[in-house]
Amino acid sequence: MSDFDPHRNIEDKDKDLDGIIRPQDLEDFTGQREIVSNLHIYIQAAKLRGESLDHTLFHGPPGLGKTTLAHIIANEMGVNMKITSGPVLDKPGDLAGLLTSLEPGDVLFIDEIHRLSPEVEEYLYSAMEDFVIDIMIDKGPGARSVRISLNPFTLVGATTRSGLLTAPLRARFGITCALEYYDVEDLKRIVKRSASILKVDIEDTAAHEIAMRSRGTPRIANSLLKRVRDFAQVMGDGKIDLKIARYALDKLKIDTRGLDAIDNKILSTIISTFKGGPVGANTIATAIGEDQGTFEEVYEPFLIKEGFIVRTQRGRIATDLAYKHLGISPNRVSGELFGE
Ligand code: ADP
Repeated sequence: MSDFDPHRNIEDKDKDLDGIIRPQDLEDFTGQREIVSNLHIYIQAAKLRGESLDHTLFHGPPGLGKTTLAHIIANEMGVNMKITSGPVLDKPGDLAGLLTSLEPGDVLFIDEIHRLSPEVEEYLYSAMEDFVIDIMIDKGPGARSVRISLNPFTLVGATTRSGLLTAPLRARFGITCALEYYDVEDLKRIVKRSASILKVDIEDTAAHEIAMRSRGTPRIANSLLKRVRDFAQVMGDGKIDLKIARYALDKLKIDTRGLDAIDNKILSTIISTFKGGPVGANTIATAIGEDQGTFEEVYEPFLIKEGFIVRTQRGRIATDLAYKHLGISPNRVSGELFGE
């Protein structure tokens, strides 16, 4: 398996189009139905009371809509949003500057919130809980701290690694939402919606094909749509039918089941290095050069959802589907699948 990862290479392109196809309100947001209907209630209730929305945490793998939902919250609440990320907020002073600039009810979006330094994180606690911060004035013997009141605001945090959040930070979010991978039908709707915004004619079967190969992820579905559109424009009449979609996706080396290079590496590692398992998460993670948490929170859920691996008490086991996908024959005794 080569290390070339078509999904990740195309993710960064066409950033300018992202703003156009990003859903602006809850009505427009496909999938994640429970989260959407709950948010609808929380937002309406906060508006009725004339309060800011409770602090909200979104967690789940990349590209599932965490940032989009943060934008939607600000939109639906009719407030502005300031955007930053865990690694960017170096010192408490950076955070203080942001917090004091917020108008009543504004949203502060912190992406990769698990990467806040402990110092900055601690500083957030009083801001989140009581809308106050303490600022140090002067240095040395004359140093003193002054308490400043903030406008009530909503902190929206996003993380791919909820396991790395500390308990005190997690406890300060009133609303917590776990985003799941999208099913093919929802992804198909997203592809069709994006196509209509981009004014591209797409056949139902072609939208389905793109959806199937998108690793359950809207960001990938949109990226694939844009690349397939290029092929359709240059090689055909601009219309995306199943033939041109398949041709383009194959040219882009997009896996027929939507798996990316790391997914395939995980499967081939379990099968070739560990005889199909059972093998522990830690061992797999080390073999593919990732940490165990990233393996468990970012990669594994999709492979389990799609039925490529199963989790047993003794470790992970590659299923027959995984063997079939890699074109390897499952040359093993029957009991092994259940770790007996
Ligand atoms: P995350 O913050 O979880 O990494 P984003 O919110 O940036 O993901 O979403 C990635 C892209 O996918 C966005 O450009 C957005 O347009 C699209 N997207 C995400 N979720 C949906 C959805 N439910 N419906 C339509 N498009 C979506």
